Amino acid sequence: MEEKLRSNLLNIHQRIERACNRAHRDINEVRLLLATKTVNVESIRNALELGETLIGENKVQELKQKADAISSLKPEIHFIGHLQTNKIKEVIKYASCIQSIDRLGVAEKLHKRLVREGKTIEVMVQVNSSNEKSKFGIDPAQAVEFVQKIATFDTLKIKGLMTIGLLSSNTEHVRTCFRLLRKVQEEINQLRIPNVQMYELSMGMSKDLEIAIEEGSTMIRIGTAIFGERIQPDSYYWNENI
Ligand SMILES: *Cc1c(COP(=O)(O)O)cnc(C)c1O
Repeated sequence: MEEKLRSNLLNIHQRIERACNRAHRDINEVRLLLATKTVNVESIRNALELGETLIGENKVQELKQKADAISSLKPEIHFIGHLQTNKIKEVIKYASCIQSIDRLGVAEKLHKRLVREGKTIEVMVQVNSSNEKSKFGIDPAQAVEFVQKIATFDTLKIKGLMTIGLLSSNTEHVRTCFRLLRKVQEEINQLRIPNVQMYELSMGMSKDLEIAIEEGSTMIRIGTAIFGERIQPDSYYWNENI
């Protein structure tokens, strides 16, 4: 089992390296985040012991159950799932970055909580670049205005944008999503909004990391290609109506 994990990780690092070479990018510009939803503590520990440093969880309950068991390996933990306001208190205990800010209400409540605790947190804004109803995220056309609004919450360190690309075998359609995210980022950076330093583009998963890297990704989030197929369908994590 550990051998499989080792070879999967090696394979992903090779894919990152090849994509960076093709795109004339430095491999240090692209971080690997392990998407560890449904993955057991032992496998996560193994991956961390093999040198990985960054994990992302989708559900606060799952994060809570795993966090203590992996804390001695000191991973950087990001929250990448749909955040319910009643889970804010818990998530800020474990995560150093929340990549899935997608509603003003959640940003506001997060800010209030952080003020009370005298803390700050890194965040990214999730953009629905594929315009699929099943996905969370801000409408790309509203993203600039949304960032301007949440920039007034000075406890939130806005690092960039996150998206889940279109799940399609049509690579040009997938590419359009990533290109759109980058375009939104450029628009925001041109405005020079105080308190906003947007250098992160969190995009690219098991099937589309190469396209994402070509389009400027700074963080790819990989689950399946490292840990194997999941039993839960992704809709369980991506759409709260299910
Ligand atoms: C599950 C998940 C991933 C990883 O997806 P894979 O296709 O398994 O690599 C990335 N980002 C988010 C937000 C996820 O929920």
